Amino acid sequence: MIPPPLGAYLHIPFCRQRCDFCAFYLEIHREGRAETFVRSLIHEIRLSTHQHVTAGRPVQSVYLGGGTPTVLAATQLVEILSEIRTALTLTPDCEVTVEGHPSTISKQDLVQLLQAGTTRISFGAESMDDGDLTRIGRPGAVCETVTAVTQAREAGFTNINLDVMYGLPGQSLGSWQQTLTRCITLEPTHLSCYALTVEEGTRLASNIQRRQSPVPDEGLQIEMDEAAQQILSDAGYERYEVSNYAKPGYACRHNLLYWTNGEYLGFGPSAQSYLAGTRFGNVADLAIYNTSLAESRLPIEDRSRLSEKEQLRDAVIFGLRLIQGIPTHRLHQHATNYGHTAVTAQLLAEQLIEEDGERSRLSARGRLQADTIAGQLY
Ligand code: SF4
Repeated sequence: MIPPPLGAYLHIPFCRQRCDFCAFYLEIHREGRAETFVRSLIHEIRLSTHQHVTAGRPVQSVYLGGGTPTVLAATQLVEILSEIRTALTLTPDCEVTVEGHPSTISKQDLVQLLQAGTTRISFGAESMDDGDLTRIGRPGAVCETVTAVTQAREAGFTNINLDVMYGLPGQSLGSWQQTLTRCITLEPTHLSCYALTVEEGTRLASNIQRRQSPVPDEGLQIEMDEAAQQILSDAGYERYEVSNYAKPGYACRHNLLYWTNGEYLGFGPSAQSYLAGTRFGNVADLAIYNTSLAESRLPIEDRSRLSEKEQLRDAVIFGLRLIQGIPTHRLHQHATNYGHTAVTAQLLAEQLIEEDGERSRLSARGRLQADTIAGQLY
């Protein structure tokens, strides 16, 4: 029997500075610590693929995220990609994504990444309005995003994603619509549109607490979500998940793997894995990560084997995010398994989950509360 395809995720835990809203695990980039990390990461790839016996399993997607992978030198990224190709069996059409911040990449870097087999480049644009960027403490300017996309295309990339956010402090419906329109003129193949969420411990959360920043307006976020749906579908993008739109044939294969409960192996501090019914995660601490690998120990902190019921729970929670949804009987089976029948009935009555015939999915309002609903169904 051919084993099911696998994905690989590599967490590059560095940025030049932390944006006000960001709660990801990361450190401020310094050349010395970055080089130590690259050595550890390469060691981890070898150890992990050996111990988890991935030999021969086809890998359909590789994703370098973070953090900001492109704060590393292009030569370091190329070395990491080359190690991945040696340690894993990539399918001929494997999707290889590198996330980048527009101001941390040159055309020469892009050419090197393309030559190293990167098939998809993803830029964290966040907004196409300089005022929005300033208000969320995101370094860089809109013109850098325009340059990065232009250079990526000149370098030969045909699959380009832009990440943008809505519900930002001071952002109006009009300025969000303008961000979308400006993105469309750059002709990306994929757009990820994230509603701003306020994460505990971030500078944004403390700004809101001190009344220096407004609380996100849920009503406005719903209007912005609807505007994105309208503007992007008019421009030929298909919505396929809560936050994701793609031109036909360009849905992100790696993200689809997560939402369809597929298996993946994670590398780097804080990276998560799901393999053979077991979830496990790396320690979110670069110093402990490096020490562990210097002693040739995998830096795994948590490990939990999922029962069949838990596997169904995860498949339901992730699958509801997809516009294609999940078979309705699986939602009800999960509700019965976990004693969630009353909660599920309530979510249906409130039209946060919608059932159409055989399939169930989050409704437009439900999509804005996706994390809360996931918590209720857990
Ligand atoms: S660039 Fe991205 S990963 Fe880095 S701090 Fe900003 S949002 Fe977070």
